[in-house]
Order: sequence, then C-alpha cells, then structure tokens
Amino acid sequence: MVKYGEIALKGLNKSTFEDILTKNIKRRLKALGDFTYFRRQSTIYVTPESEVDMDEVVKRLSYIFGIGAIQRSAVFPKDFAVVAENAKEYLRDALEGAKTFKVEAKRADKKFPMQTPEIQQELGGVVLSAFPYLKVDVHQPEVTVRLEIRDNGAYLSAQRIVGAGGMPVGSSGKALLMLSGGIDSPVAGYMMAKRGLVVDCIHYVSPPYTSERARMKVEALAERMTDYCGDIKFYCVPFTELQEALRDNCPEEYFTVLMRRLMVKIANKICDRDGYGAIITGESVAQVASQTLTALYCTNEAAEYPVFRPVIGMDKKEIIDISRKIDTYETSTLPYEDCCTVFSPKHPKTKPRIEDIRAAEASFDFDALVEKAVAETEIKRFRCGERTIDLFD
Ligand code: ATP
Ligand code: MG
Repeated sequence: MVKYGEIALKGLNKSTFEDILTKNIKRRLKALGDFTYFRRQSTIYVTPESEVDMDEVVKRLSYIFGIGAIQRSAVFPKDFAVVAENAKEYLRDALEGAKTFKVEAKRADKKFPMQTPEIQQELGGVVLSAFPYLKVDVHQPEVTVRLEIRDNGAYLSAQRIVGAGGMPVGSSGKALLMLSGGIDSPVAGYMMAKRGLVVDCIHYVSPPYTSERARMKVEALAERMTDYCGDIKFYCVPFTELQEALRDNCPEEYFTVLMRRLMVKIANKICDRDGYGAIITGESVAQVASQTLTALYCTNEAAEYPVFRPVIGMDKKEIIDISRKIDTYETSTLPYEDCCTVFSPKHPKTKPRIEDIRAAEASFDFDALVEKAVAETEIKRFRCGERTIDLFD
C-alpha cells in the first residue's frame, strides 16, 4: 500500500498528481517484475504479479517523492476468521525475535461487522497465542501490527516505512541544477526534486585544467541523484575558452564573480532553449568568498530566471547529513578539481560592486563565446537507478 504524502491534501487537481505519482512508481519498479496498480482512498495498491524481490520494491518506493508511507501488506477477504487463520504465518518474520507489539486497526469500510476496538482486541489475542513470548506495549512497541479494513479487502501488515515525502517529480515543472563536484549542489537538487521539480543538471568543465576524472565524478553524482530525481538530462558545457578570456582580459579580483555570471548566462540560454523554468544552485550564505550577499547579488543579477538556493540557510553539517542520506557524500568528497578553482584569485573581492563588475565584463565581448559554449554543450542522459560509473575501483 503506497500512501500519499502532501498530495492527499490537494483538492480538484488531485488526480493529476496521482497520475504523475503512479507513472513514476511504474517506471521505477518496471525492471523488478510485473505489477498491477489501482488507486483508492488516497492509496495506490501495488500488487506483484510475478516472483519479485519485495525488499527491493520497498527500497525503491522509499525514494519516490509524493509518497507519505509504504505499508507492506498481505490482503485477505474481509472476514476476520480468515485473517486470524493466516496471521501467524504472515507475521512470523516480523514478530520472531521481537519482544513487544501492539495492534492498530482501521475500519475504513464502515459496513464491516466488528468495531475497531474489538478488531484490535481479537487480533491481539490471535498474535499472543501464536507468539506467547510477546508483550503488548501500546506506547513504544517494537512492531506495530496493522489491520486495515478497506473497500477492497482486509490488509494485514507489520511493516510500515516512512516515505520520501514531498510532491511527485514532474508535478511542478522543470529546473536546471548547476551541479559541481561539491557536497552542496547534489543536496540542492534533491531538495528541489522533493518539491516536484524535474531536475536536470548543467556542469561546466575546463579541460585541460580540469580532468576527465573530475567530470566523471560529477556524472557519478548525477547518476546517484537519479534514485530520487528520476531520469536526469546532463549538460556538459565546455568552459575553457571563457575562463581563458576572463584571465586575459579582466581584473583578477573579480574573477570568481565574473565566472559565475558567465555560468548563469549560459544556463539562461539553455533554459530558454529547452524550457526550464528556474535555475538551482548549492549556494549557502557566507560559505565561501563568492557567497557573500554582495557577490550573490552580482551573480543573481545575471540570471533571467528565478534562482532557487534551497541550502542557502543551512550550515555545512546539515547539508552533509542530507548528502550522506542520499548517498552522494562519498563521491562528493573525492579529491578532484573543479573549474571554479582554475585561475582562482588569491584575493577575491568579497564585496564586489555591480558597477565594477559590469565595467570589467565590458572589457571583452563574451557573447560570442557564450553562444559557442552553448552550441558545443554535450548532452547525456542518466536513467533512474543506473550505476555505470565506478570511481572507487
Ligand atoms: P558545492 O559543494 O555545491 O560545489 P561550494 O560550496 O563548493 O558548492 P562553489 O564552488 O562556490 O560552492 O559553488 C557554488 C555553486 O555554484 C555550486 O553549488 C553549484 O551550484 C555552482 N557551481 C560551481 N561550480 C560549478 C561547475 N563546475 N559546474 C556547475 N555548477 C557549478
Ligand atoms: Mg564547489
């Protein structure tokens, strides 16, 4: 039983969100076997129709945004005697080795002859006689046995997993994540996917100053992000000529901000061309010299789309905790160079003024090189759950 998160609160357009969520689930589970799907009472029932690895099913479901909870269940006819007869066998795995339990019943079908307290009491008795070493603990049970009497059957369950929450990916439009090899940007992408955005990635490389391995690292990050974000389109922008032009023509102290503005200008054009509605970055106030308020102002000023910075108010520890959870931390901390560090100034201006930035930018015509970089951008696609890149060999 896949139970909705926030979608449950939606009004008239709820079915649109349900359609998207169902589609996302089908896509994620397709490789694991055959399933049938039907929806009722704010739940999607996912039923395996062939031999499948249910642990893997539950794991993949736990990554899908829009899901509030996943309840692994056995379905029986709505007849308490039948449930009681089968309870021992179905619950054995969950209850063997446990010390305490409680029963929670839900009577969504109001025509069911037994009342909720009665169901709980009776089922509790069944469990206790099957597993006599168990004790009831209604406050902090190790296992909660649930029986839900629904329109279409009685669902018995001993495993409920908290879902990924948020809104289904694809229900809020699409945005372009500026993905570096660092810790912050994958987390930023994860957070915006959680709000229902399709998150595709743009990455800037400066060969030969940055290596093939460094690029692979970022691709590996994008690949990992697909667990949560679904399929990802990956734009790789050749940035060397722009950086060399900057080095040769502009004051070094403005280099970082000018470089970021060029990145944003390229992102603007990809957004125009491919229909993205926003840019996402992993910037966080005060983390580095380019993330002071004035520097952020100067970067932001080059953007023609809203820039989402979901980690802006988080401290590094909080960001790291999420990156561990989404399994990007280890990859992010591999020691490869980023184009940001190429020609990076010894004394960057931490309080750049926009007039000075504009003047510095005017010393060279970057537009042609920006167009060229966009035209030469390579596109790759990473499929959900795929792992093709291994940097730990
Ligand atoms: P991160 O850990 O995400 O790299 P950071 O703290 O190292 O962030 P910066 O290197 O200043 O910060 O980068 C700030 C943001 O700029 C990044 O979060 C990312 O969104 C974007 N960015 C930086 N370098 C690149 C790059 N080479 N390609 C794409 N985006 C980049
Ligand atoms: Mg970085």
